[in-house]
Amino acid sequence: MQNNCIYLDNNATTKVDSEVIEVMLPYLTDYYGNPSSMHTFGGQVGKAVRTAREQLAAILGADESEIVYTSCGTEGDNAAIRAALLAQPEKRHIVTTQVEHPAVLNVCKQLETQGYSVTYLSVNHQGQLDLDELEASLTGNTALVTIMYANNETGTIFPIEQIGLRVKESGAIFHVDAVQAVGKIPLNMKTSTVDMLTLSGHKLHGPKGIGALYIRRGVRFRPFILGGHQERGRRAGTENVPAIIALGKAAELELLHLEEAITRERKLRDRLEQTLLATIPDCVVNGDVTQRLPNTTNIGFKYIEGEAILLSLNKYGICASSGSACTSGSLEPSHVLRAMGLPYTTLHGSIRFSLCRYTTEAEIDRVIEVMPSIVERLRALSPFKNDDAGWLQEQEQALAHR
Ligand SMILES: *Cc1c(COP(=O)(O)O)cnc(C)c1O
Repeated sequence: MQNNCIYLDNNATTKVDSEVIEVMLPYLTDYYGNPSSMHTFGGQVGKAVRTAREQLAAILGADESEIVYTSCGTEGDNAAIRAALLAQPEKRHIVTTQVEHPAVLNVCKQLETQGYSVTYLSVNHQGQLDLDELEASLTGNTALVTIMYANNETGTIFPIEQIGLRVKESGAIFHVDAVQAVGKIPLNMKTSTVDMLTLSGHKLHGPKGIGALYIRRGVRFRPFILGGHQERGRRAGTENVPAIIALGKAAELELLHLEEAITRERKLRDRLEQTLLATIPDCVVNGDVTQRLPNTTNIGFKYIEGEAILLSLNKYGICASSGSACTSGSLEPSHVLRAMGLPYTTLHGSIRFSLCRYTTEAEIDRVIEVMPSIVERLRALSPFKNDDAGWLQEQEQALAHR
């Protein structure tokens, strides 16, 4: 097993902080009581869960009663969408975007087969929404608007509060997938228009298998998972105590380090990005560089395949990612970059580097050192290195007709 690498794939998952492990361990060993039990042995665990809930609420500026634990970000998204629809059975329309995470998109796709209509808002070349298009999509029949805070692939941040004001006027419920935003930018639910918000532990230096849904007090909610009375009847099932304790600590640490991490990561990210753009010809930054997570850069290296770059980086022990997934031998480009209308050559050669507060200057230097020769070597082998205009046009047309 490989256990050290230059890890620049923090939007996929993060390292669990050692302080988080430390506070979590006793709840896997000595303190295994059920937090709902009447006895002291269980009750003390219940108390620890309450403290963890307060720690998590603090990073959102929320009340602890507004936090419902889930098993992951995906469950949070599913639960929020279903709850909003169950609470307003007379309304049959949903508004979302073309660039959501599959945890939202695939739920919406299924709902379309169950009698709901869904508007998938488009984005421009920078990955930004058109607020007029949003406003025009809202009707009295709109039950839910579900839009991500920040995009996992490009880091583009949507103007959530401006969106929220328009959603409120329409009377729809406003859900935000903030899995990529929590712990990366400041959030405050007290002054927000958001009704429900999803977060996930493993994206903020907590463990996998734990997440939470923020539900604003007063918002009508119907549970997705039925059973016991846990989470005030909003999510049944005995609590994942060790993971809840861990998520509380992870949130506390993220909040503690937030300002410093933003400055530091942005500086490292910008240096990586600017140096690569300066030393490698024919590359572009994807996304909205003015409204962007401080830890993320998505760069398109024209005329080569992103997967080939990743494999080369992997040989140097550098972990990054491309939006596209290789399915049955055919390389499907990322739905996010496609929605942005990027040209074929950029679509296929795009790489995401996502940093965290553990990223060092030496690690960034190493990437800056190896990337130019990787790109040069791959381009020398590339069939479209000469920018064969006819061939490219054919590929673009094929893509447009899919
Ligand atoms: C990772 C991610 C999710 C899913 O979270 P899991 O905890 O892995 O289920 C949802 N939305 C976004 C934007 C993500 O980045």
